[in-house]
Amino acid sequence: MSLYIKSGISTTSFISLNINDMVTFTAPQLHASLTSHFFVDYTMRVVIEGFGLKPSFQSLLTTSAQSNFARHTNIVHLYHGQDGSKVLTDSYIFSHPKLRPWGQWLPISCPSCSSLHSWSDPTRHQSTIIFACTRSGCLGLCTFPKPEGVEPVGKEVNGGRWMVKSGQW
Ligand SMILES: [Zn+2]
Repeated sequence: MSLYIKSGISTTSFISLNINDMVTFTAPQLHASLTSHFFVDYTMRVVIEGFGLKPSFQSLLTTSAQSNFARHTNIVHLYHGQDGSKVLTDSYIFSHPKLRPWGQWLPISCPSCSSLHSWSDPTRHQSTIIFACTRSGCLGLCTFPKPEGVEPVGKEVNGGRWMVKSGQW
């Protein structure tokens, strides 16, 4: 059984309902129409062709890496551990050094001078992505260190790439 829901469910419910896989989206105001390609690909690959959901995620995400869907929401896949008593999670995060640095949103305004959309092109210091305010005289910076435990998924597409962080719920 696979189930698509928009909001939370408890670990106990997940186990007692015998749900094998669950996919959730993290966008606070999800635009469901942006998920249509994901579900068409899901239907073809998982429902019709019979591939497992977990090994299919790389393929499902690669096809969406250039769409607005990737920039709109992250995805969490919940599934049972091998003994069935644990719920494991794979959080898929879209990262683009300019649009979604390490999966984070760039602030609309500079925290120092409140200028809107005043960020420079990003620079890097080791794995940290840095944006500087371009307003004259402002030294405002916005930094995005690489989060712990994330691994790339698939290939980079137009500078963007999905990443995954695995954990336990
Ligand atoms: Zn500034």
